[in-house]
Amino acid sequence: MVAEIICVGTELLLGQIVNTNAQYLSQKLAELGIDLYFQTTVGDNLIRLKNAIEIASKRADILIFTGGLGPTSDDITREAVCEYFGKRLILDQEILHRIENYFKRIGVKMPEINKKQAYVPEGAIILENKHGTAPGLIIEENNKIAILLPGPPFEMQPMFEEYVIPYLERFSNQKIFSRVLKFVGIGESSIEERLKDLIENQTDPSLALYAKPFEVELRISTKKSSKDLAKDLLDQMESRVRALLGEYIYGVDNQTLEEVIVEMLMQKGLKVSVAESCTGGLICNKITNVPGASNVFDRGFITYSNQAKIKELGVSDQALKNFGAVSHEVAKQMALGALNNSLADIAISTTGIAGPTGATNTKPVGLVYVGIATKNYVDSFEFRFSGDRLKIKESASKAALNVLRR
Ligand code: ATP
Ligand code: MG
Repeated sequence: MVAEIICVGTELLLGQIVNTNAQYLSQKLAELGIDLYFQTTVGDNLIRLKNAIEIASKRADILIFTGGLGPTSDDITREAVCEYFGKRLILDQEILHRIENYFKRIGVKMPEINKKQAYVPEGAIILENKHGTAPGLIIEENNKIAILLPGPPFEMQPMFEEYVIPYLERFSNQKIFSRVLKFVGIGESSIEERLKDLIENQTDPSLALYAKPFEVELRISTKKSSKDLAKDLLDQMESRVRALLGEYIYGVDNQTLEEVIVEMLMQKGLKVSVAESCTGGLICNKITNVPGASNVFDRGFITYSNQAKIKELGVSDQALKNFGAVSHEVAKQMALGALNNSLADIAISTTGIAGPTGATNTKPVGLVYVGIATKNYVDSFEFRFSGDRLKIKESASKAALNVLRR
């Protein structure tokens, strides 16, 4: 069975809201093992929606709609589907009752137009909406299935989990199983080059690379009928990739770099302090997002101005004058200052030009220095990042965290 998602709403076409329903439903269908070849987005227009249904019916067996189930005149999904399948809409007393109760609960008199939502296609399966008024609907007709879901994600998602997943499970084909290997400190093209043979000669599992700020993900996927069959294949491919690039792999699946760093520091029994200039607290934020960070995080210094670097961290006036704030020397002195003014065993620092302003002939936007200091070691590293201000801050904070992995 093949599914198609049809999202209804003019606001989607105008770019006023992001189509998160399509993303959510696509993920769920992949997990369910139901093939999805097309997503359609169409405005609140009866003729165009019926057109979209006609096209989708030719290439899919299960049509999943979101949006346009509301009571207002622009909500036309129910009507369009009924017209297409030649179904009558009939008043369902029980639903009417439920909608009336819903309004009683929230202490509002039911507007007359909400009665429209109690009209359902004859023979439809009705899905209760526990977070709103529009019930979901499943219509089975001529070997086609239409599933109508409300637009608001907080209504649609619980309904999908509770009723639609159990309904769809019987149509599951082979499922997609995947594993994500997360790389740091190596670019997408370098990975591709090193994995060229693997990627080119590989159909099952398939390999795909995705670049993110200062990290790259490699998704290894396979379609199998059982988890165990998939696991062996994914394990084998992971070993082959690790044999080639293991040193750059920091984590798997949902693991974040900061989680891995916190875990590593915990195991080594080390505490870290952070001195941040261009990252403005982002590194401290990332570390403290990890549960248990208090075991490994001592403190952070956000020293944005030169005076702050001097006063809080003891960076020398001379270094700032001779090399500038964005320099190896200042990065090292910042890390040393963070170490000496805290209870940490290890300290890292960032200083750089996040842009779009502030560049000079010798110091372009994206130039970042990361410092690291322990009691008997101090060093710094130069990076050149691209992208806008936020991307550069993100990259710099990951680069600094990654320095702790050395
Ligand atoms: P309502 O009863 O609230 O009118 P509805 O089923 O008629 O629900 P719509 O009117 O199409 O749904 O959309 C209502 C709201 O739901 C939108 O304003 C938007 O906030 C959200 N929404 C609709 N479609 C999507 C979508 N595809 N992705 C994310 N959010 C959506
Ligand atoms: Mg609506």
